[in-house]
Amino acid sequence: MEKIYIIRFVLFIIMSFISFNPVHAMKESPNVEKFAQNGYKYDTFSTQEGRNISIIFIKHGSIAIDIDNYLVYIDPVSMFGNDFSVLPKADLILVTHEHQDHLDAKTISTLSTESTKVMTSRAVAEKIKAEPLSVGQRVDNKQGNFIFVTMPAYNITEGHLDFHPKSRGDVGFVISVDGFRIYVAGDTEDIPEMAQLADDDIDVAFLPVNQPFTMTPEQAIHAIEMIKPHIVYPYHFGQTDLTPIVNAFAGSDVDIRLRALE
Ligand code: ZN
Ligand code: ZN
Repeated sequence: MEKIYIIRFVLFIIMSFISFNPVHAMKESPNVEKFAQNGYKYDTFSTQEGRNISIIFIKHGSIAIDIDNYLVYIDPVSMFGNDFSVLPKADLILVTHEHQDHLDAKTISTLSTESTKVMTSRAVAEKIKAEPLSVGQRVDNKQGNFIFVTMPAYNITEGHLDFHPKSRGDVGFVISVDGFRIYVAGDTEDIPEMAQLADDDIDVAFLPVNQPFTMTPEQAIHAIEMIKPHIVYPYHFGQTDLTPIVNAFAGSDVDIRLRALE
């Protein structure tokens, strides 16, 4: 009889070890798994401190960034048919500006819990319940243990200036997690402030490419030359042909990644 107990005990120890082995520990966060179950594609990066960052591609200007299961949505909107009720709730929602392809109060409430923070430009914060952000503001997010800085976002082409007037204070974001930097530009053209990012070692840049509201492919190429990021995701591109951007950086050390962000 005693032998059987010993064998059972040994089996119990072995089974316990298997369930705690590193293969399990390396699984994606529950948030990211939920996106994957709903058919969303994502790319995962590792910071120098060993934290996982997954960027989930939703549609157009909507993306999500998961930092070890702390979930940030940027410009989540339902107008393109995405069902946010099946997606994980937000810890933080960032909104760049007031246009309907970026600001969707109903979707914000769908994604919110009591503890969700909503942060946006001053102009948008006058329309919805949210914490206002100035251009050039640095925010220390203690909960998620990362920082972000707001960038200006505006039009510079004559005849397009009213789409995103500089005076309105629309924003983009540079999110920095353990020194891994993600620039999400918002609706902007290739503004001179982008040149300042060249010193910041931007790992990932989301740049908008559509007419007449944001950049032409040629402007996006100029923006990439200014920012010098390692990876670029053109986004907010609608029906724009992105081939010129891909060709311009073929064989260079800039990795242009195309995702379903039309
Ligand atoms: Zn816009
Ligand atoms: Zn837009």
